[in-house]
Amino acid sequence: MKPSQNEFDVVVVGAGFSGMYLLHKLRQAGLSARVLEAGTDVGGTWYWNRYPGARCDVPSIEYSFSFSPELQQEWQWTEVMAAQPEILDYANHIAQRFDLRSDIEFSTRVASAHFQEDEQRWRVTTDSGVEYAARFCVMATGCLSVPNTPQITGADNFAGDVFHTGNWPADGVDFSKRRVGIIGTGSSAIQAIPVIAEQVEHLTIFQRTPNYTMPAHNRPLSDDFRKQAIENYDEIRQQQRESQVGIVGYGFGFGGADNVEPTEAILETTEAERAALVEEEGFVAIRRFADVAIDPEANELACDMYRQQIGRVIHNPETAEALMPRDYPMGCKRPVIDTDYYETFNRSNVSLVDLRKGGIETITANGVQTAQGNYEFDTLVYATGFDAMTGALQKIDIRGRNNERLNDHWEAGPRTYLGLQINGFPNLFTVTGPGSPSVLSNMLVSIEQHVDWITECIEHMRDRQLRLIEPTLAAEDEWVVHVNEVAEGTMFTAPSCNSWYLGANIPGKPRIFMPYVGGVGEYRKKCDEVVANDYEGFVLSA
Ligand code: FAD
Ligand code: NAP
Repeated sequence: MKPSQNEFDVVVVGAGFSGMYLLHKLRQAGLSARVLEAGTDVGGTWYWNRYPGARCDVPSIEYSFSFSPELQQEWQWTEVMAAQPEILDYANHIAQRFDLRSDIEFSTRVASAHFQEDEQRWRVTTDSGVEYAARFCVMATGCLSVPNTPQITGADNFAGDVFHTGNWPADGVDFSKRRVGIIGTGSSAIQAIPVIAEQVEHLTIFQRTPNYTMPAHNRPLSDDFRKQAIENYDEIRQQQRESQVGIVGYGFGFGGADNVEPTEAILETTEAERAALVEEEGFVAIRRFADVAIDPEANELACDMYRQQIGRVIHNPETAEALMPRDYPMGCKRPVIDTDYYETFNRSNVSLVDLRKGGIETITANGVQTAQGNYEFDTLVYATGFDAMTGALQKIDIRGRNNERLNDHWEAGPRTYLGLQINGFPNLFTVTGPGSPSVLSNMLVSIEQHVDWITECIEHMRDRQLRLIEPTLAAEDEWVVHVNEVAEGTMFTAPSCNSWYLGANIPGKPRIFMPYVGGVGEYRKKCDEVVANDYEGFVLSA
């Protein structure tokens, strides 16, 4: 390709928070960059997931960028955990404040990215055939950006409207007078169900696996609280960066075990004591116990407390039984918090279909046929999650040295060094890629750390006139082994756990625990050490 207006130092794919911050950082470093984004505007997750009830479950004060003191001081969050419209407003504000849109191509889906060995640069091609060339290519494509719609027989025959929580219409959906069926009871469904239930004539929920969810206790933020938080930002940010999951819990604390550090041992309690705790505090009583996270026997006792509380909240015993998780440990899947989830099942316009008693057989023109019978509705909502962590990367035809396909390199599951780079794919970076804390953390903390690391790496190379960076196969091998070792023995990898962290939600996907469980603070130290040791594990060449 001849030099053209489509040549840049860096091509970035994705304009969620990762791509937006990356563009800002690259510009600050004096590098030319172009961001390619499939959506019509910025925001990523918060642009696509506009379903009713969507919100973050990290304190808003902490689910925000720290890179600009001015931004941090001027932005005023209204609730402990912000709702999707407010987070999207925040993304729009950032785009405007830092004039990001002028270097973003919207409605542009990247189809392929090929490393040109002779030119030592990446050629990135969109699905409409437009080509871009760049020395570096950064995939900021998101970990939860490819919605999963299960292949259910007859799905095309459904005559009514069909929606997916992960690709919700920007204008919203008028649910009044509708009879709605929703498939799934993961985080998205647990947020959407209580809100949709209030709007519809009838809501039928198809549940394959009941979830564990804790009350969110969300509430508006007072001016005093906001002021105090903004004044304390330096300290909050420092603590976030050094923590396990990038969350200090600023703004949490609602009474009972919500305020207590988990230090007690459930294995030392009696049945009567546990029952009394459930009576007093409900679900959150479990939070005081530290052994629940590490000991399967302790975990089962906590699950039992959890089921007791479901029995107390749900009026209909059959519905209560259906909602009780039984076959996998608490803490194996992404934690969920909710507002009035269980209470919703006491409404007269809500019914639950427990697919454990007979699964979905077909989707018909006007509903779902299960082994237990037919259920009719006129609107179908898939709340069936995502092809997580690797989905967006593997949808792009990515090829490295010797024309090797990423999909071949990852045939047995994702392999990276530090979740940042892949052997055989020089100058290609992933933001919050598999093998990094990523989805196990407050993502904004992890995004900032990755973007800073990547930008500083590119500056380092520019200043020393180095052209290529790539991890050695040995460094990648060692990191993959380490990522697996630290996950072993945790609830995340329990044999009965079928989470998307393990790829278990996508038929045929290799069962590998994809994120790095070692913690945000430790991981940051490791990344900094690698740099201090002259990019240990990477080969940098002129
Ligand atoms: P994304 O926001 O996913 O952005 C990636 C962008 O890349 C998308 O806009 C996509 O269109 C684009 N893209 C992908 N492939 C291509 C391609 N081939 N060509 C062009 N463009 C492409 N995290 C938390 O820490 N706390 C939370 O409370 C939280 N809540 C969440 C709630 C929901 C409903 C979901 C789905 C996720 C949530 N997350 C949460 C995770 C969330 O994804 C991250 O916090 C963060 O927004 C990710 O930003 P990102 O820019 O890395 O990825
Ligand atoms: P999810 O957690 O993967 O849940 C998908 C649901 O769909 C599960 O209940 C699953 O059942 C069900 N399902 C999938 N295929 C099915 C089929 N063929 N038949 C019946 N049921 C089926 O997806 P999600 O709820 O969209 O959440 C994904 C992630 O996004 C979260 O874990 C979280 O990281 C993020 N998120 C965060 C928030 C937040 O509070 N901040 C909100 C939403 C999303 P099984 O369990 O049986 O597979």
